[in-house]
Amino acid sequence: MYTDLKRTWAEINLDNLEYNYRRLRERIGDSCRFLGVVKADAYGHGAVQVASVLQQLGADYLAVSSLDEARELRTTGITMPILLLGHTPADQVGHLIENYITQAVSCESKALEYEAEAAKLGQKLRVHIKLDTGMSRLGFLCADGHFAGGVEAVCRSVNLPHLDAEGVFTHFALSDCAGEEARQYTIKQFELFMKVIRAVEEKGFAFRIRHCANTGAVANYPETWLDMVRPGLLLYGYGPEAAALGLKPVMQLKTVISTIKVYDEGTYISYGGTWKTTERTRIGVLPIGYEDGLFRCLSNRYSMLTTEGTAPIRGRICMDMCMIDLSGKPGVDVGDEVIVFGEGHPLDDMADAADTIPYELTCAVSKRVPRVFYRNGRVCEQELRILR
Ligand SMILES: *Cc1c(COP(=O)(O)O)cnc(C)c1O
Repeated sequence: MYTDLKRTWAEINLDNLEYNYRRLRERIGDSCRFLGVVKADAYGHGAVQVASVLQQLGADYLAVSSLDEARELRTTGITMPILLLGHTPADQVGHLIENYITQAVSCESKALEYEAEAAKLGQKLRVHIKLDTGMSRLGFLCADGHFAGGVEAVCRSVNLPHLDAEGVFTHFALSDCAGEEARQYTIKQFELFMKVIRAVEEKGFAFRIRHCANTGAVANYPETWLDMVRPGLLLYGYGPEAAALGLKPVMQLKTVISTIKVYDEGTYISYGGTWKTTERTRIGVLPIGYEDGLFRCLSNRYSMLTTEGTAPIRGRICMDMCMIDLSGKPGVDVGDEVIVFGEGHPLDDMADAADTIPYELTCAVSKRVPRVFYRNGRVCEQELRILR
């Protein structure tokens, strides 16, 4: 369902998504598989729509974080393989198998739990073994003194009769960081990953899909691409890696000017008196606030793009509104569109101003904000999750 109300909306350009996918495909070559990370509603872009495009384009795999996310894709016609990266309670194994979901397995006790459930059902669960090579999050411990024990635990897990260990993977912690130390750390993680795989192979088990390349590694470490790459952010076109590869941002966040007033010198704008006008000031009110995903920490620290250039936010960002300074922009009027981030106004700048990363900002665009999808240059779908 969709409302025609033009308040604040996100334009999702699926043509740009296609462009990014094709560029990345060219980069990795035909023999390497492509997994598109669509967790967290495809970083706020709309998992169903993004997954549909990736499926059409011939991507090989998708990844999500929860069984609910996987199910959302399965109930909307996504048939390609899906890797569930996060935690799934063992009592859900039946649902994993029923929906053809591949589960990440991050330690031997999980492997044993999944094995027991799958055995009860008399079926096999497809899994990918996750190794902790230095991210210090999920995964079989295998660094340093844990190496021999880790390899044995992996071997016992992959040989469980009701698990089909199709793949093995690890996650880089510093592959998108600059500098020699980050490079050394990433290479060390990769070498440990390969060493564990070789040790497991020597004990007679070979994985069909080895993967570790996230955005930073797809951009900076070709030697890590192996059998499959696993980018998220790069696909959506943000961050310095995407810029360096000439990729295009997929989302634009837009709003309109609802009201314009002129205030005298010495007037407080918004809550808390954090901004006082120093001259006669033309202020526009925008119907976007922190509930929509415009972080309150951007108060007095970020500008929006109007038809006459950038206009700074004045005073505190409220829950549903904020104010911008339109002084010296006589051509900007009530009803005009304003770009929060998008063409000519990069999300990366907004992330810098908020002292965060682009990931957090697209994920934060809330369910109140309708998504308007573009394909072949035209609106192909509009979705308002609040009325679903
Ligand atoms: C989120 C995630 C990715 C994608 O990361 P990007 O930095 O967006 O490329 C890849 N692998 C795992 C395990 C993840 O959790």
